[in-house]
Amino acid sequence: DQVFVGKETESAESRVAASPETVKKMKALGLDVIVESGAGAGSSIADSDFAAAGATIADAKAVGTADIVLRVRRPSTAEAKRMKSGALLLTQMDPYGNEAALDAFAKAGVTAFAMELMPRITRAQSMDVLSSQANLAGYQAVIEAAHAFGKAMPMMMTAAGTVPAAKAFVMGAGVAGLQAIATARRLGAAVSATDVRPAAKEQVASLGAKFIAVEDDEFKAAETSGGYAKEMSKDYQDKQAALVADHIGKQDMVITTALIPGRPAPRLISRDMLNSMRGGSVVVDLAVERGGNVEGSVAGDTVQVGDVTVIGIANMAGRIAASASLLYAKNLLTFLQTMIDKETGAVSVDFDDELVKATALSRDGALIHPGFGGTAV
Ligand code: NAD
Repeated sequence: DQVFVGKETESAESRVAASPETVKKMKALGLDVIVESGAGAGSSIADSDFAAAGATIADAKAVGTADIVLRVRRPSTAEAKRMKSGALLLTQMDPYGNEAALDAFAKAGVTAFAMELMPRITRAQSMDVLSSQANLAGYQAVIEAAHAFGKAMPMMMTAAGTVPAAKAFVMGAGVAGLQAIATARRLGAAVSATDVRPAAKEQVASLGAKFIAVEDDEFKAAETSGGYAKEMSKDYQDKQAALVADHIGKQDMVITTALIPGRPAPRLISRDMLNSMRGGSVVVDLAVERGGNVEGSVAGDTVQVGDVTVIGIANMAGRIAASASLLYAKNLLTFLQTMIDKETGAVSVDFDDELVKATALSRDGALIHPGFGGTAV
């Protein structure tokens, strides 16, 4: 069977869905791997690196003969039509609110898997693209904030005087937030953090940061069985806003990462709060692509709100593409391995497997995912 790794078509996307290492492993599974010329350029992987790992380099048209297509983002509906009926597509499908686009893949006979729907269970940890990318995004958010911040992060005692440590506040202590806390701590900042899930409290403390939250009864119950946050009541949000308003005026740096699956990002920082911050402060809104945690943040842009710099880099993991691609490629490979018969090397998808059930959107010309326009079979 043939695997095609495409060059991402969105100009802001510098990641790639395979690495020389995963190409070698796919070859070892008996697959033919075709990589589109230039696919790795944004991640410092040359065509020759892929070729040395055993891939054939071709142009975009090669997608038409592939049995398996690996990508970072959902390709265009035009590409869906070029794909072979029955082909498997493993990528981030961005399914929420995009049912019409998903339908194009179903109609083309493509079996599309949305990697972001991978369940958070132990067996699937190594296939969890949200975690691998959020981890790097959390790190990079602090690097970007430090770069925009006109002062030092650590306390520095010098003969010429003492520079105080920067105060950093991380909102949302999931995978990205915890890595942001760890990174800000490594750079010497005094770090505090908040989340609406009670489990986050201990994790924040274990990283040496101060936990700040409204810990009422709603907070104590605010976690789904999948480990995700629930959308909080208006009453809770008001209490949270009051607490944050008080805290935020003392911060130099705020990193927001709060998300709720399938919902717009919760609004955590108002313009008034931004105006209460010290001049020269920096805010990074990691949720900007999903509507933003910060009032006035702009996806893909950095804006000044008064004297505060609000960074709205979309696709933060893409800013550290070489590392992000290695992890993403490994996530895809690990999932793909579950679909290859070890003895024959043939592709066979077990539609009863819980990982497949959770991620497969379309099959045999129809949408099948109950959450996205399909009726489960
Ligand atoms: P996410 O990206 O969905 O959201 C980021 C964080 O924002 C979450 O911690 C969430 O609770 C928080 N948040 C939501 N609304 C908020 C609000 N109003 N105010 C403050 N914070 C708010 O989260 P994630 O990184 O995907 O992690 C979610 C959970 O899944 C965590 O418990 C994490 O440990 C767990 N997880 C488990 C596995 C696994 O077991 N395989 C893998 C990854 C993550």
